[in-house]
Amino acid sequence: MSKQKQYSKEDCIESLKKFSNKSDKLTHKEYVNFRSGEELPSYSVITSRFGSWNRAKEKANLPTNGQHKPKIKKPPTVSLTDKEWEKLKGTKRYNIKIKAYIAEWKVSNGCYNCGYDSNEAAMQVHHPNGRNGKSITEKGISFEQLKKELKEECLPLCGNCHNIEHNEKDYLTI
Ligand SMILES: [Zn+2]
Repeated sequence: MSKQKQYSKEDCIESLKKFSNKSDKLTHKEYVNFRSGEELPSYSVITSRFGSWNRAKEKANLPTNGQHKPKIKKPPTVSLTDKEWEKLKGTKRYNIKIKAYIAEWKVSNGCYNCGYDSNEAAMQVHHPNGRNGKSITEKGISFEQLKKELKEECLPLCGNCHNIEHNEKDYLTI
């Protein structure tokens, strides 16, 4: 059996710090080059200790890829503190941004049928011509796509009107 050294998290962080002193690009590829021939924890050891490469870099106080991207700003209608917002991951922020945009769209327009506009939670997005392909109901939609879809293909309806609308349509398909 080969005697593989068991590296601790501290060993990994130390290695990452040495790595960052020698390399500007803190990528997987660069790390493999940096480590070759040295007795240092491997890329896979580091990622398994921390869960991911970026998380390991975070723990070593090194810039992660996420920090180079512009951060999504907190929508004014979102009731989270700035501190809570800062803690969220990028995808979570993006999902909240989308949800907040749809909420604002619903209440600022009001129900197309009866005018209800008091609470976005009681309002829904109606697709009068049905949904086609990628939709606001699916994950991974771009923000531009979302805005376009709401503008061109959707109507805001309150829950009651939406139910009635679909119930009436359903008679035709029974
Ligand atoms: Zn209504």
